[in-house]
Amino acid sequence: MRSHTEQAALPESEGSLRATLYIIATPIGNLEDMTYRAVRILGEVDLIAAEDTRHSLKLLSHFGISKSMTSYFDHNQQFKGERILHALRQGKSVALISDAGTPCVSDPGYQLVRDAVAEGINVVPIPGACAAVTALAASGMPSDTFTFAGFPPSRQGKRRTFLAGIRSLPGTLILYEAPHRLLDTLTDIRDVLGERQLIVARELTKMYEEYIRGSASEVIAAISHGPIRGEIVLLIAPGEPTQQESEPLEDILERLLADGSLSVKDAAKKASEIAGISRSEAYSEALRVKIAKSSSSEREI
Ligand code: SAM
Repeated sequence: MRSHTEQAALPESEGSLRATLYIIATPIGNLEDMTYRAVRILGEVDLIAAEDTRHSLKLLSHFGISKSMTSYFDHNQQFKGERILHALRQGKSVALISDAGTPCVSDPGYQLVRDAVAEGINVVPIPGACAAVTALAASGMPSDTFTFAGFPPSRQGKRRTFLAGIRSLPGTLILYEAPHRLLDTLTDIRDVLGERQLIVARELTKMYEEYIRGSASEVIAAISHGPIRGEIVLLIAPGEPTQQESEPLEDILERLLADGSLSVKDAAKKASEIAGISRSEAYSEALRVKIAKSSSSEREI
């Protein structure tokens, strides 16, 4: 018999698991971070949808859970999502798990949840590990306001544009990054956001958990000695917006083109570095500014 208090803490009694989609967080490296509730519900649902069934089978067997499984990942989510919704419409309960951490956070799940909600299907999150929040908790950076922006684009031009887009956001910025791109991304962060305080939080909850803290240049120097391995969360402290950072692109270009000493191409190159945007974007704006400048000086004559 459960006590009254336990029943209050465990709202899903037998039978109420029907027609519910559970979004279940799993550990990000340390199996002790699995929650009691996650184990219980995974053992009770009719079907488990996993990003990688073979990977999740190891986790489930560790906790003695044996269940029907189906895969649900980026490239089959439309077709599999429909099958999962079909099971839910028939009154079945389904648990969604990803390889690690919280589904829907840089992991598949959002579309399934969106569609389930649209159909009025009960969706219940089972909270647990999430690398972004875990890193923030140990960061010592402001946590009242923060932005999680996922993985930056892998190509430099798009990455710089992406960084320029989040540069002026208030609070701590949190990114995920692959180890082989870390140095390039840190270099772009220094160029586009300036010398902010950074943390590379590596292998959280695992044996080689590590935090590399310092200014952008210090962190770049620290990781330049050898290859960085493992899983990484990157935290960026809020910056004081400098006058240059908050200057609109048009004003930057007008300033650079004012005395006629720079060509449109050179002004665009400089402006792209200042504003942290692609050269092609800066070039089309520079052309527009130059044409506007020439026609206004013609009118003055
Ligand atoms: N859904 C997961 C979550 O809730 O954090 C994230 C999944 S995403 C595909 C995987 C990325 O999360 C990794 O590339 C890394 O950036 C970050 N990550 C996951 N586990 C981590 C860990 N133990 N330490 C540091 N970063 C981790």
